Amino acid sequence: MKNLDWAGLNFGYIPTDYNVRCYYRDGKWGEIETCSDEYLKLHMAATCLHYGQEAFEGLKAYRCPDGKVRVFRMGENAARLQETCKGIMMPTVPVSLFEEMVTKVIRLNQEYIPTYESKAALYIRPLLIGTSAQVGVKPAEEYLFLIFVTPVGPYFKGGFSTNPYVIMRNFDRSAPLGTGMYKVGGNYAASLRANALAHEKGYASEFYLDAKEKKYVDECGAANFFAIKGNTYVTPKSTSILPSITNDSLMQLARDLGMEVERRPIPEEELVTFEEAGACGTAAVISPISYLDDMETGQRYTFSADGKPGPVSTRLYNLLRNIQYGIEEDKHGWTTVVIE
Ligand SMILES: *Cc1c(COP(=O)(O)O)cnc(C)c1O
Repeated sequence: MKNLDWAGLNFGYIPTDYNVRCYYRDGKWGEIETCSDEYLKLHMAATCLHYGQEAFEGLKAYRCPDGKVRVFRMGENAARLQETCKGIMMPTVPVSLFEEMVTKVIRLNQEYIPTYESKAALYIRPLLIGTSAQVGVKPAEEYLFLIFVTPVGPYFKGGFSTNPYVIMRNFDRSAPLGTGMYKVGGNYAASLRANALAHEKGYASEFYLDAKEKKYVDECGAANFFAIKGNTYVTPKSTSILPSITNDSLMQLARDLGMEVERRPIPEEELVTFEEAGACGTAAVISPISYLDDMETGQRYTFSADGKPGPVSTRLYNLLRNIQYGIEEDKHGWTTVVIE
């Protein structure tokens, strides 16, 4: 293993030894290439640079207490990338190619997988871009699918804790019939101003209502929203949010615990009835929300009376983390051992 300060890592970028690449030319995917260069040589008229033909994914590899290295639901990431590909007219990456490349890039960089004790993990970033030159607005003929990895620290420096979020009505991340359900860079560009403003005002992240009516709850920046109401796990149904694999897993675990699960439009007024709420995604698993302010109306929705994560969120968080680390039985076959 590399001699790095694993416990001191944050969510930055640390170079590793290799990335893996595969090119799409003449209507088909080529061979997987191993590369030690961190740079790309790209045509200045590539469609990814001008017309946003760029898709990405994000998942993690975990060094587990039993010494094995596991990845979590990589087939789901592969399937979601295929949906994104169709959404912005790029050729789909076969699931088997995606999984082979993820496995390969982890094994090539295994000296960079953080120790279990550090609570850090190896972040895996698949990237698909249109590379052929074009000035007219239409899809590229050629594509590059690349995966790099970088070790990242735990999302919470001080452990699992609550954070405040803020509803911003003056910004939209995505349109109802736009690209919100696809993992594309353009959605992130659209969120940067709201995100910067939220941080400036001391919030963990901006929070979006639906773009059309500003009546329903959408997403917490780059994470899905869920809430706990009695014995029910509630999460929004909307055409402009990204289908989070973490959220899907939490819904299943909630059902396993005997809870009801509701995926439906959530009107803003209903926020006052929730006992717990959180943002969820690969980076943090769950980021419990202390309170959510509506910047325009001044209304505050409080989800934690004492500032601590609620009991249901804590239980779901521990359960999911323990499955990812091979501690809890993996009943749903979510993890894949990539290094024995
Ligand atoms: C990636 C992403 C998420 C979280 O998805 P996971 O699969 O749980 O990591 C949520 N919202 C947006 C906008 C995203 O891009």
